[in-house]
Amino acid sequence: MAIPVLVIVALGLAVGSFLNVCIYRLPRGESIVWPASRCTSCRRALEWYENIPVLSYAVLAGKCRTCHAAISPIYPAVELLTAAVFALTLAQTGVGWLLVARLLFGCAMIVLAFVDVQHRILPNSITIPGIVVGFLFSFVGPPGWLSSLIGIAAGGGSLLLLAWAYERVRHQQGLGMGDVKMLAMIGAFLGWQLMLLTLVLASVMGSLVGAALIAARRGDMRYALPLGTFLAIGALVSSLTGDAVIAWYMSFY
Ligand SMILES: [Zn+2]
Repeated sequence: MAIPVLVIVALGLAVGSFLNVCIYRLPRGESIVWPASRCTSCRRALEWYENIPVLSYAVLAGKCRTCHAAISPIYPAVELLTAAVFALTLAQTGVGWLLVARLLFGCAMIVLAFVDVQHRILPNSITIPGIVVGFLFSFVGPPGWLSSLIGIAAGGGSLLLLAWAYERVRHQQGLGMGDVKMLAMIGAFLGWQLMLLTLVLASVMGSLVGAALIAARRGDMRYALPLGTFLAIGALVSSLTGDAVIAWYMSFY
């Protein structure tokens, strides 16, 4: 087991480095494959040894080698998070189609979480293909195509209804279409049960953070909360622990 864990952690760190590129470039409309990584401050192209996950950040002490601008600690954090999600996913699923599906799903959730908290957008280039890919994977593994299809319809449908009701009552947009597509994607990959668990977890987290912000009297509440980030955290927790949570819940019936 030690070797697969090392391999998956190394893979997670390398993929996490690519997710950093996606998180930075997707919301700016830049290509994620070209050009090579640059210092975001002086725009100098990075050498290979400045691009090693976590290690380069530590060796460079969090500063660009030439312009000495601070490098955000979010970069190594995303790499470590991705490695942790990869290792936990392997432990949860074992090797198979489900591992591939859940790793792709985990990557998408990490990118959406950070993009939404920084820019308040959930790129269509992730959510729309995500719905299709999640549904296709459901034919070769859990949750099965029917649960996936119900997950897409119920996930997208419930938020669409909520968005419509909110606009009717408050005469302003409270939920974006990005959230609708994202929950449909979560339903596609995880099935309707874990999609519901995700929605519950995200609502609880959103309420707690919202209450904390009100208590601290910070900013304009309406724009303060990135629902996509809470959905992503809820979806990762559901993906990694959800079957156990649902088994526990069902044990009361
Ligand atoms: Zn620089």
